[in-house]
Amino acid sequence: MAILECKDLCFAYEGKRVLEGVNFSLNAGDYLCVVGENGSGKSTLIKGLLGLKAPEQGSITLSDGLKATEIGYLPQQTQVQRDFPASVYEVVLSGCLNSLGSKLFYTKELKQRAMENMERMGIEEIKDESYQNLSGGQQQRVLLARALCATKKLLLLDEPVTGLDPIASGEMYNLIKLINLCDNISVIMVSHDIHEAVRYATHILHLGHSQLFFGTAAEYRQSSLARRFLGGGQI
Ligand code: ADP
Repeated sequence: MAILECKDLCFAYEGKRVLEGVNFSLNAGDYLCVVGENGSGKSTLIKGLLGLKAPEQGSITLSDGLKATEIGYLPQQTQVQRDFPASVYEVVLSGCLNSLGSKLFYTKELKQRAMENMERMGIEEIKDESYQNLSGGQQQRVLLARALCATKKLLLLDEPVTGLDPIASGEMYNLIKLINLCDNISVIMVSHDIHEAVRYATHILHLGHSQLFFGTAAEYRQSSLARRFLGGGQI
């Protein structure tokens, strides 16, 4: 069942088109990796999916009761975010903000949700530590727990392993795959690492100012585009 469908999507900044012809759908349980070179339109698409940037043309349809505010989002990391002065628990709990509704304070249920997601990510023992003192890998686990507080259906992850060492990257990829398989949460991940993308994802969307490829990871592996993108390397 499709939970998200993009039809003939185009995006522009100040009248200048930067991305066009995007057509794909995401079914419940899919793990889609969005790849493409710098400036190819990946972040613009993410902003569109989150409802932060209106398309110039085309449509984004969410179904199965999914709302844009119920997408769990892990943004690209900036230095300012890395130095954010809050505890691990506070950062994770902030993922419940959209569930507050008209209430002024976090309910017992939302605090329980934050605790459960910290346990899932194995960070409950560092819940009172300052976020800014954590390693890069720990910080990403905290942000993943935060994103999980916001959703039961779809995670949108923008470059979640950038800047991590190979061990922390591997752990992050495994955690994401586990969430995808065990909790049946669909994943859309922007990634620079095409080798890992093809290994973990079920589907690939390759952008280059337009949609260059959309299909299964197996189909992508066979495509001339994948071979060209990798400069003849093996995937
Ligand atoms: P990617 O995430 O793949 O690196 P982006 O979506 O950030 O690509 O950018 C796609 C294109 O849109 C690029 O040519 C970029 O310069 C342009 N662009 C991105 N953000 C803006 C903006 N706020 N204003 C004008 N142009 C932008």
